[in-house]
Amino acid sequence: MGACARRIAVVPVGIQASSLRAARAGAAAWRMPSPHAPPSRLEPLVSRVKPPPFEYLAPRSLDEAVAALAEHGDEAKAMAGGQSLVPLLAFRLARPSVIVDLNGIGGLDGARLDGDTLELGALTRQRDVERLPGLRERCPMIVEAIEQVGHVAIRNRGTVGGSLAHADPAAEWTALALALDAELDLVGPGGARTVPATEFLISYFTTALEPGELLTGLRLNVPNGRSGSCFLELARRHGDFAIAGVGALVTLDGDGSVGDARVALIGVGERAVRVAAAEELLRGRRPTAELFAEAAAAVQAELDPNSDVHATADYRRHVAGVLVRRALATAVGRAGGGDRDGAA
Ligand SMILES: Cc1cc2nc3c(=O)[nH]c(=O)nc-3n(C[C@H](O)[C@H](O)[C@H](O)COP(=O)(O)OP(=O)(O)OC[C@H]3O[C@@H](n4cnc5c(N)ncnc54)[C@H](O)[C@@H]3O)c2cc1C
Repeated sequence: MGACARRIAVVPVGIQASSLRAARAGAAAWRMPSPHAPPSRLEPLVSRVKPPPFEYLAPRSLDEAVAALAEHGDEAKAMAGGQSLVPLLAFRLARPSVIVDLNGIGGLDGARLDGDTLELGALTRQRDVERLPGLRERCPMIVEAIEQVGHVAIRNRGTVGGSLAHADPAAEWTALALALDAELDLVGPGGARTVPATEFLISYFTTALEPGELLTGLRLNVPNGRSGSCFLELARRHGDFAIAGVGALVTLDGDGSVGDARVALIGVGERAVRVAAAEELLRGRRPTAELFAEAAAAVQAELDPNSDVHATADYRRHVAGVLVRRALATAVGRAGGGDRDGAA
């Protein structure tokens, strides 16, 4: 660790570090006290603090952060916005003994639309992208997707990089990364490398990040010209993770036929998926309601969703088909072409 990194143990307000050490030593023997029992000297530690004890590191540079993660290995977790990690700690589903807070590292945030490229630092808050001037007009799919991530308070803290690194299969950012051919920049003990989104997203909460590696930024391809896009999802309540969601982007040729099409889905498998069969089928054809229905059927044929407490696999497949039709119709309409009846 460099000299300027701050290293402190997280000690609940009013609790001495010595109590924390004692509590750590006896952690195995703890039991959660009854909320009705009178507090003893140690009880505030166990009953009023949700996360397990951890050491908190606040590196000031990327090198320090990488070094800290390398030093502590599996015991360490990076923290960006904390909007996924902190709930995991609070429920004690994650028990890192060291948290490496990335928020003090300069130069990892910022959003910039430059030609066909949207450049994002990993620490850019989702809300800052949502509010980037001109983005909704240029590529509505991006803003529409972000608007469905939790609630404003979550997007104010939650970062783009955190969402992608967390890799929830229903995370809106994973669909955007696939649909917009994102390239992700990673830095770790072995140096820097760039990977495409298709290789970065592997499975449930699993990415190509190697131990000790950090995501530092990404670039998304946002086509200019006669393009339209749309993101739609179905969730039980606004702000919930999607049962299924679809991002569609269509570029029209001069004669009004589909020049390029991208269709990415979330919530319908172990990771976000892009459906090449549907994209192929759309290219070179006139965009009509019948074509959108064909594309939807192609998507449904490719999907293998799970059943869970939120929805059956059949329901997810059905919803995905409906959303694909609607998203394509809206995207084509926004590109200034086609037949919008497919939105019915
Ligand atoms: C009530 C609620 C509702 C939500 N609803 C949605 C939703 O509908 N859709 C959705 O997509 N998300 C939702 N989220 C999650 C939210 O989008 C998070 O902000 C996001 O998933 C994680 O971003 P973060 O910056 O908070 O990351 P953190 O919580 O800090 O970290 C998450 C994980 O990513 C790792 N990580 C973070 N940054 C990096 C990095 N730069 N390099 C390597 N690893 C890194 C951490 O180690 C950790 O494992 C919700 C969260 C809450 C609390």
